[in-house]
Amino acid sequence: MTDTAAPNPDLDELARELDHAHVFHSWSAQGSPPQLTIAGGKGTKVWTHGGDEYLDFSSQLVNVNIGHQHPSVVSAIREQASLLSTIGPPIVNLARGEAAKRITARAPRRFHKVFFTNGGADANENAVRMARLHTGRDKVLSTYRSYHGNTGAAVVATGDWRRIPNEYARGHVHFFGPYLYRSEFWATTPEEESERALQHLRRVIESEGPSSIAAILLETIPGTAGIMLPPPGYLAGVRELATQHGIVLILDEVMAGFGRTGRWFAFDGYDVEPDLITFAKGVNSGYVPVGGVLIAEEIAADFDAKVFPGGLTYSGHPLAAASIVAALDAMESEGIVDNARRVGAEAIGPGLEALAEKHEIIGEVRGEGVFWAMELVADRATREPVAPAVVARAKGELAARGLLAFTAENRIHVVPPCVVTDDEVGQAMDIYDEVLGLDL
Ligand code: PLP
Repeated sequence: MTDTAAPNPDLDELARELDHAHVFHSWSAQGSPPQLTIAGGKGTKVWTHGGDEYLDFSSQLVNVNIGHQHPSVVSAIREQASLLSTIGPPIVNLARGEAAKRITARAPRRFHKVFFTNGGADANENAVRMARLHTGRDKVLSTYRSYHGNTGAAVVATGDWRRIPNEYARGHVHFFGPYLYRSEFWATTPEEESERALQHLRRVIESEGPSSIAAILLETIPGTAGIMLPPPGYLAGVRELATQHGIVLILDEVMAGFGRTGRWFAFDGYDVEPDLITFAKGVNSGYVPVGGVLIAEEIAADFDAKVFPGGLTYSGHPLAAASIVAALDAMESEGIVDNARRVGAEAIGPGLEALAEKHEIIGEVRGEGVFWAMELVADRATREPVAPAVVARAKGELAARGLLAFTAENRIHVVPPCVVTDDEVGQAMDIYDEVLGLDL
């Protein structure tokens, strides 16, 4: 809790009343019970007006990589706001250039240009548009287990139920990606899964007609769809297929990028280089909404003499740009990405393995860095997922013990900020242990 604000539970009540009366929420039935009120935060902790404190092991929507209220990011936003709070995208602005320079510095050498967006969904929209304009082709291939955002093409590229009521974009084709624990290919080893998933993709490309396919759009590591690390050779194999057929490979690093895996980009850990990279969330930890597309030089050059018909009023907003500069500089100088890697390998991974040994309800744990999933199952032998109500109860019990969790389907995602300490991981493991031991 801050040392300045006195606890005032009445403000929590007021916040809930106003919310219930006037806020129409995303992704929920409006009659659902109100969520927790959060009034402040620092690092891995958040608290209510009344002073109840929580460990944020959700990083909100898996975006607060640098932790809450990092002082240098907050002051960079403040300084930029007092200098110039807004300026249109066509105008040259120093903060925007500095932000783009820092982002490209993390990427492979072919990437010199950044197209700024307001978030991750419109980053994917624009990447798809660039791929279509670059290739003159139409189709976009993406996996059933994926999430690419909640706007036009991005939500249709999303493979699961989330696309269903929104299918108004054209040319989207879905295929199965690798997921060994629930293999679509009857595979029993990562190598088999990789080989068979690639064979499946090859058949989809051939069947759709390679010359009609503009892009393959993949989350390097699918996030909300389950944190499935790609098996050996898979991404390199996708790259090979894309190159062979002149297809643009777009890697969606919106959730996995900027430190979450313990690397700057998730694909740095695999033998693959994409043509377009989409990012958002961790680039500035969401302090100001922003996202973007990193563009390889051969695609960027295509637009030297041709207009790219994309952009919004707030693209490359100076407050967002200033926050990116400060966030990336702090992540570098404070070793925050290294911390995520170390804590993942030394504390979270072993902690979750120990829980899996103890609790039958855990079918599998997987992940790296500060990007982990626990699959909860009703039966370890059949791998039948637990009912959604079980996960909802677990989430409530975790919150009651002071831990904010991110859950999806039958999973609890263990996704704290990259600044999380060993001690905080220890506290979280004790809470997971207690809750998983309940009769959920
Ligand atoms: N891509 C991935 C992989 C995501 O996880 C998300 C959001 O969770 C998005 C795209 C969409 O980002 P945004 O919500 O900023 O539009």
